[in-house]
Amino acid sequence: MSDLLARHRAVIPNWVALYYNEPIEIVSGKGNRVVDAEGRTYLDFFAGILTNMIGYDVAEVREAVERQLRTGVVHTSTVYLLRGQVELAEKIARLSGIEDAKVFFTNSGTEANETALLLATYARKTDQVLAMRQSYHGRSFGAISVTSNRTWKNNSLSPLQVHFLHGADKHLSRFRDLSDADYIKVCVEDLRHLLATATSKDVAALIAEPIQGVGGFTMAPDGLFAAYKEVLDEEGIYFISDEVQTGWGRTGQSFFGIQNHGVTPDMMTFAKGLGNGFAVGGVVARGELLDALHAVGLSTFGGNPISMAAANATLDYVLDHDLQANAAKTGEIIIGGLKAAAGRFPILADVRGKGLMFAIELQDPATGEPSPQIAARMMEETKKGGLLAGKGGLYGNTLRMAPPLTLTVEEAHEGLGILLAALETVNEEVS
Ligand code: PLP
Repeated sequence: MSDLLARHRAVIPNWVALYYNEPIEIVSGKGNRVVDAEGRTYLDFFAGILTNMIGYDVAEVREAVERQLRTGVVHTSTVYLLRGQVELAEKIARLSGIEDAKVFFTNSGTEANETALLLATYARKTDQVLAMRQSYHGRSFGAISVTSNRTWKNNSLSPLQVHFLHGADKHLSRFRDLSDADYIKVCVEDLRHLLATATSKDVAALIAEPIQGVGGFTMAPDGLFAAYKEVLDEEGIYFISDEVQTGWGRTGQSFFGIQNHGVTPDMMTFAKGLGNGFAVGGVVARGELLDALHAVGLSTFGGNPISMAAANATLDYVLDHDLQANAAKTGEIIIGGLKAAAGRFPILADVRGKGLMFAIELQDPATGEPSPQIAARMMEETKKGGLLAGKGGLYGNTLRMAPPLTLTVEEAHEGLGILLAALETVNEEVS
């Protein structure tokens, strides 16, 4: 065990996730690559943790932050006007597609979801909410209550009455053979039944990830969220789209993940990539909804000048370089390449994704059962090949990948090559 790992184990809680048998210390980064303390370079197919959305050491972000630092103002607070905050809110409100939108800035995705849940339950005067099975929404009391995935949830007590819906994917055997249209019908019937029998109908909101993140990049069938939204509208229930992983063009198809489904939510929450590593999150919602909290408030560090400088520069970069289109193009190389090769690898249970948000699911080739062990081997093997990925999935048997949106065509081919070589090796080992 390295000295740093031993010191980590002594002072950091043991439930804090650490990847790899020999966890690495990343000491520098440039473009879409990082370097560890041993001098090994990796193509970062996890973008930090979807945080380094436009890669490492980006001059535009560095210069924007340095300019702000040179003013001497790292932080004042939102009790004074902050130009960067207003400018960023204007851009996000416009991109959200939500009518008369306003934005409240936080420091994390958890805090953003907590705020959205607070708004919805306050406006509807109820503690009942809906969420999706396999979901993950963060670590605070409210956010963990609407988290379904046991791996992340632990046994925390919930301050909310939460009802978890089907629809994230067809993982139950009785759903597997249904067409998307029939599956959506079953899900909607289930929602109506649940509202009629398990709730007193005064439900505040449904919170959902358009593509589930730690749940394993599972994708609801097209049309599911639109069908849910119809029911929610009938009942006056808000729709909160958690865009912490799916925002900013990552899916290649639209700027926010829920827009792929043709749905305009009442609120969207965001974080992770917007600051390209600097902590920034928030909620964008219809103004009347955000204004409805009758309390004076602020988040001390939410929307601070440094985060706003980084986020404005990052968002401008994404838009100026049309990185949504780049995500679609480079993502297709990798997803298409993996799908084309899938038949060669009995350990590969599924390849899925949109744009630069894609995953491979691993199974025991003999039994077809989900295999976290084979996923762990794939993590080690891809690392050996020089590529960093993320772990996840309902059974911990999924490699999740979400490279920076700046990934080049050459890097897409290089990453695909590393993934295929690792599949080849691990498949041979276990067959
Ligand atoms: N929502 C989703 C979909 C996430 O993936 C995460 C983090 O992984 C969160 C919320 C929580 O965000 P944070 O870790 O910034 O609090």
